[in-house]
Amino acid sequence: MLACASGPVADWLGPSPDDTRACGAPSSSGRVDGALALRVVVGDDVPASDAAALTRGLRRYFAAYGLDVGLAAPPVWIDDRPLLAGEAGASYADGVAQAAALYGPLREVVAEVATPRRDDEVVLVVVSDLLAPGSAAAQVLTEVRGLGFAPGPESAEVLGFEEFSPVALVAWSEVGRFPEGGRAAMVAHEVGHALGLAHVADADNLMAVRAFRCVPYLDSSQTAQLRRVLSLEGP
Ligand SMILES: [Zn+2]
Repeated sequence: MLACASGPVADWLGPSPDDTRACGAPSSSGRVDGALALRVVVGDDVPASDAAALTRGLRRYFAAYGLDVGLAAPPVWIDDRPLLAGEAGASYADGVAQAAALYGPLREVVAEVATPRRDDEVVLVVVSDLLAPGSAAAQVLTEVRGLGFAPGPESAEVLGFEEFSPVALVAWSEVGRFPEGGRAAMVAHEVGHALGLAHVADADNLMAVRAFRCVPYLDSSQTAQLRRVLSLEGP
């Protein structure tokens, strides 16, 4: 499960105005050089201007690597509801039944907005909250700022199916607490998961589990991975 828990605010960019300081130089760590089409899906309680700002931040982040993020279609609005739920205290027959309860709303939304599968697009879903308060999921996970799923067998364990477009999901209530530079990195992190990038130990890397102290970087193996997933020609 590719859940990304929020750390304490002080561990992140915090109130520092220095949130545009780069951890590494994109030009020296590999480029993607291509285009990515984004489908934006927004919960109807999330302010449109905030969702738009997240999209712009994502575009700015990847532009440093020569990856041009554009919209595949106009944004779509959905009923804003937590996507990780389950009845607190309920006992389930087995792990399959438990997963179906915990991830039921998530599965519905991913099936609705990210199927049929299109590998040349990423679906970005912004809802107010990912965790339903008081739910079984909230007891297990406590905080979830975002999720990212790449199509394939690993995601099927959570979603119950493996054929869907790469999808990144963001909780505005969590991400919106951080300065704008940090928000962009958080969304880019989830898009990284959607495109198959795993967590890494280096705290200055985009795929660090927590604590962006500066604008995090992608290394050359990660940009190569993005090129492969996006089927971009090149060396
Ligand atoms: Zn993550």
